[in-house]
Amino acid sequence: MQNIEQLKNSALELVQNSTDVKQLDEVRVKFLGKNGEITSILKTLGKLAPEERKTVAQTTNEAKNAVFAAIEAKKAELELAALEEKLATEKLDITLPETPYNLGKRHPVSFVIEELETIFAKLGFSVASANEIENEHFNFTALNIPAEHPARQDHDTFYFNDFEEFNGEKQRKLLRTQTSNTQIHAMQAKGAPLRIIAPGRVYRCDSDLTHTPQFHQIEGIALDKDITFSHLKGVLQVFLSQYFERDVKLRFRPSYFPFTEPGTEVDIECVFCEGKGCRVCKKTGFIEVLGAGMVHENVLAAGGIDSKEFQGFAFGVGVERLAMLKYGINDLRMFFDSQTEFMKHFGKNL
Ligand SMILES: [Zn+2]
Repeated sequence: MQNIEQLKNSALELVQNSTDVKQLDEVRVKFLGKNGEITSILKTLGKLAPEERKTVAQTTNEAKNAVFAAIEAKKAELELAALEEKLATEKLDITLPETPYNLGKRHPVSFVIEELETIFAKLGFSVASANEIENEHFNFTALNIPAEHPARQDHDTFYFNDFEEFNGEKQRKLLRTQTSNTQIHAMQAKGAPLRIIAPGRVYRCDSDLTHTPQFHQIEGIALDKDITFSHLKGVLQVFLSQYFERDVKLRFRPSYFPFTEPGTEVDIECVFCEGKGCRVCKKTGFIEVLGAGMVHENVLAAGGIDSKEFQGFAFGVGVERLAMLKYGINDLRMFFDSQTEFMKHFGKNL
């Protein structure tokens, strides 16, 4: 019993004399560890007479608890002292620059689409959208590109293995290759007169400097009782001049698209050399920007519109193409590379 008292007192003394947490821990191991001096007594209890055993166990446990409590108290005291010392000696340097906070920017595709929506809203067009997963009917057939038409091959289409039942026929599902599917859905839903633009993602299995498997188009269609080719020219003139922020000169070249009659490619005077001829325009002074034309009567019929009563024009333009021309971006793939450097340079502040 005396031995236990002595052990306890020497442990408490060592605790009081400890000057750091490490020393304190050594004391804990010495007395209360697995083979510690106090812990060992508890292991010998079995050898004692039963009446003795009870008092020795009680005294040892009391000693153990007292030492444990003293260690905890001393530990708290040492930690507080260490903190106070740190606070007293450490100085806060308010001249340190703050951690930089990188705010994102708006992607050229996003702000070009918004810019075009604003221009077309002033011309009375509203914004429409349709599904990116479409069936062959809405992506091709309704746009006057029947099954055997070679234009279907030109589109490098991503097909699904799924089919869906449509108009009593099995239609293969696909990722739309053009935003023109929106024309048909809008005609069927709203009828004529109609004036919409349809910005959105389109997909083609194609990838190089000027092609990416996914890109963006804006499709436009205007239908009414007396719409002529002059209206198309007028709308494109206003749209392209406002977008390029200058009075751009347009050139119309006859072209073939299954969904228009007549169809036209539209070029603008080169924005880089102002028509003098440069590398970008291949010395021609003009750059191709979009395709357009008067809506084919078969397309109107597919949309449920009576072509004897209504006609109109449509056009389609690549969003990235417009962004590249206006902002001097020379690789289409950069739009989708997720490079922060690209966004720092070409992105717009929020
Ligand atoms: Zn040029």
